[in-house]
Amino acid sequence: MNVEVPSTFWVGLDDTDEREHGCTTHDFNDLLVTLSKSGMEIDDARLVRLWPFAPQRTRGNAALAAAVKCDDIIHLEEILQQWFESKYSSVIAQSEPHSAQPTLVLVRDQLPEVLYWETVREYVDLEDRTYHLASLYHRIWSTDAGCAGLIGATAAIAWRGHNDWTWECTAWRNEGGVRNVPGKSVAEMAEKFPGTILNRDPNLKRSLIAPRTPCPVLYGIRGEEQSDVLSAHNFLQDFPVEQSTSYRVFRTNQATDDHLEAFHDSTVASIQIMTGGHVEIHAGVTLLAFSQGGEINKLAQTLKEGDQIRWFGLSGPDGTYHLEKLKLTYGQRNHRRPLCSCGSRYKSKGANQKLKCPSCESTVDNQWDFDVVHSDWKEPPPSYRRHLSKPLGRIGKSEC
Ligand SMILES: [Zn+2]
Repeated sequence: MNVEVPSTFWVGLDDTDEREHGCTTHDFNDLLVTLSKSGMEIDDARLVRLWPFAPQRTRGNAALAAAVKCDDIIHLEEILQQWFESKYSSVIAQSEPHSAQPTLVLVRDQLPEVLYWETVREYVDLEDRTYHLASLYHRIWSTDAGCAGLIGATAAIAWRGHNDWTWECTAWRNEGGVRNVPGKSVAEMAEKFPGTILNRDPNLKRSLIAPRTPCPVLYGIRGEEQSDVLSAHNFLQDFPVEQSTSYRVFRTNQATDDHLEAFHDSTVASIQIMTGGHVEIHAGVTLLAFSQGGEINKLAQTLKEGDQIRWFGLSGPDGTYHLEKLKLTYGQRNHRRPLCSCGSRYKSKGANQKLKCPSCESTVDNQWDFDVVHSDWKEPPPSYRRHLSKPLGRIGKSEC
């Protein structure tokens, strides 16, 4: 008897909506439900955040992918084709810079991880990405609007998350309008499930799980373990909270710092506090600490020439680095002349001369006393952090 062993294929979807990532997650879930109903097994569904400065993308730049086990690729292709046409046949090319270019990709083998790393850290050219696929088995579905979504869709497939990952339970709704997800319920959920992360901004005392855009996402609960986010979702749904119409748990690269390279050490040459409170730190390169940056902005304002700093940041399109973590490793403050053993303070008698005590007239070599200052790591408050940014309190999976 011939038993067909199901093969694993990968599907990726991106850029289905010009607004936040909401509609893409909703659409992708719909696709996965369709595939499940056809008897296919879904594995490792993932929500992958990509380079925040990518042109024509929202700040949240998210793409989705999953492994699909099936024994008939022709059947799989037919389902994907039908699904894509039914969803996006009405999408027409628009001239707005953020217009959607929905793209669905099917590949036989998981794509090389390098495609993920370049897409999470830098600009990727669509032609280069298309060229990369040329020698591999693949199918692409897109509309006349273009296939810019190919970049994110392939990157989501290429993500491994071997060293670090988190989970998100995304729950969707049918109705638009204001979401009924009370902060009090979210606070209780956060307390009961300490494995969930980034639920609330303690400074603003507000919940971070529900988006504010008019998209179908009711909320997204992030956490360290699949069971954490699932239990928290079930807990929340038992409250008088808006009921979700569907939900799915995704593995994600959120809160991993994958978009950042290693830290840098620099010496401060000067700082400039701009109107509005943004701080520019000149330290060989230009570093930006935005006014909304909370503690990181406060620390930046106190920096002096000669301070040694350690930092993580993302290089923006203009070459300046947007600071994500900052620490003062060494600084000198309150320079003053040393005290004489008689209790008076030495005074300078001029350049290149010894210091002299005004009381007992003893002298010492020209020198300064000062306080040494340093700080802990600082980061922006949760509301102003990127989805990719790893909170300071979070221990990554590979560090456990
Ligand atoms: Zn003295």
